[in-house]
This record gives sequence, structure tokens and C-alpha cells, in this order.
Amino acid sequence: MRFLNKTALVTGGLGGIGLACARQLASEGASLVLADLVADRAEAISDELRSLGATTVLFARCDVSSEADVVAACDVATNQTGRFDVLVNVAGMMIYKPIEDLTGDDWHKLLGVNLIGAALFTREAFRRMSSGGAVVNVSSIHTVQTSPLVAPYAAAKAALGSLTRSTSIEGVAKGIRANAVLPGAIDTPMLWASPNLKSGAEKLEAADVGQPENVAKAVAFLASDDATFITGASLNVDGGRLAKL
Ligand code: NAD
Repeated sequence: MRFLNKTALVTGGLGGIGLACARQLASEGASLVLADLVADRAEAISDELRSLGATTVLFARCDVSSEADVVAACDVATNQTGRFDVLVNVAGMMIYKPIEDLTGDDWHKLLGVNLIGAALFTREAFRRMSSGGAVVNVSSIHTVQTSPLVAPYAAAKAALGSLTRSTSIEGVAKGIRANAVLPGAIDTPMLWASPNLKSGAEKLEAADVGQPENVAKAVAFLASDDATFITGASLNVDGGRLAKL
């Protein structure tokens, strides 16, 4: 019960990895705020998370690239639970296009959701968290190696790694830690929607595909007091895929 009496805000909390993070944190007693573009299935999800052990479950319909939405989502945490202890930046999206077809709007949209959203939530976390707070950013192995057609995504995830380092440095004085997980291929709709997989340009062996719960356990560790001396770190959660030649 590492998150009893703590409030965790999970962006993209209704997606594959985000909901797995919410379930893990719920099972350890957290109060949860799920911030997502969508708020469907809210009642069923709330019931499930409470039955797992969540103290409180709140929803904030939020476009993470909107500054006003981010502030409002964080207000839900601080005003309705009185706390803000853990921020998990999970919300993300992909655009598959060759570089020569990418518009300025494509770049702004992708960076807005995958990078600036995390930066805005981090700002609010810094303003609201007490010493002992933790930020975990869900980045990607695309930070380190990438494939065709996903240039803005790879750039955004690499920059998210950089934001994690900056957050960890500026967080020291506040007692706030910041770390990143770099998932490999995780079994969610986002993975199987990939045109690179559909075309066979990118091949996956069964052993390369992890489950959202694998990421959630790493996130919970980094967010917990078990990781009090870990900040500025990037943890691959990829079943060893990056280690192979
Ligand atoms: P998913 O599509 O199931 O979940 C993404 C969630 O983000 C959805 O609930 C969606 O509604 C939400 N979202 C999208 N745009 C948003 C916005 N503007 N504001 C608020 N919420 C928004 O995908 P997933 O696989 O669970 O991915 C979660 C994160 O993990 C993403 O950041 C993704 O880049 C990262 N990731 C996924 C994989 C993978 O293989 N699935 C691998 C590496 C990294």
C-alpha cells in the first residue's frame, strides 16, 4: 500500500498503459485523478478502481495540450483530494507520415500532446506538490532508436527524456523526483494501429511484446518511496529489445 493517503494524477488514464497504471496505483491505496480526452466508461472504471483499493477516483476531461485544461485537471486533484503527490504523464498519440508530408500543424499537434502537455503538468506539479512528490514520464524506446514515418513522435519522446532530466535537476530543491520509463512494444490498440507493423516494415517477435501491466509496475516503483534515491533516470521496459543487435 505504497500510495495510501496519496493522490496520483494519471494523464491518458483511460488508455491502455494509463489505465494499467491507474489499476496498479489503485491496488496500492491511491486516490486517483484520471485526466483524458475521453471520459467514457467512467462509472465502470471508477467502480473497478475502487474495488481494487483506490480511496477516491475522479475524472478530468482534459486535452493535455491545453493550458487551461491542464490547470483545471490539477485543480481537481488539489481541490477535491487536498493533495498532489504523484504525476504520471502517459497521454500520447502518433502520426504516421513521411517527413516530406508533415505539416506544421502535424508537428504542433504531436509535440503539444506528447511533450508540451507533460511540461505543463510538470509546471503545475512543481507549484502544487510538497516534498516527496514524484513525476514519472512515459516516454518510448523511440527516444533511442526509431523507425520510418514517426519523426515527430520520436522527436517528442526524445525531448520528453530531456524534460525528465531538467525536471529532476530543478526538482531536487523541492524534494520532487522525476524519472522516465521507455516502453518497447506494448499490447495496446496504439501498437497494433501501426502502419509499419501492418505493412511488415517493422516485425515483432512474441517475446518483444509486453503488457500494459509490465509498464505500470515500473511506473509504480519509480513513483513510490522505494525509489527515493532514483531521479533523472530512464528505465527501459522493453523485454530486452533494445539490447539486441
Ligand atoms: P492508448 O492510445 O491506449 O492511450 C493513449 C491515451 O492518451 C488515450 O486514453 C487517449 O485518449 C489519451 N490522449 C490522447 N491524446 C490526448 C490529449 N490530447 N489529451 C489527453 N489525453 C489524450 O495508447 P497506449 O499504448 O496506452 O500509450 C500510452 C503512452 O505510452 C503514450 O504516451 C505512448 O506514446 C506510450 N508508449 C506506448 C507504447 C506501445 O507500444 N503501446 C510503446 C511506447 C510508448
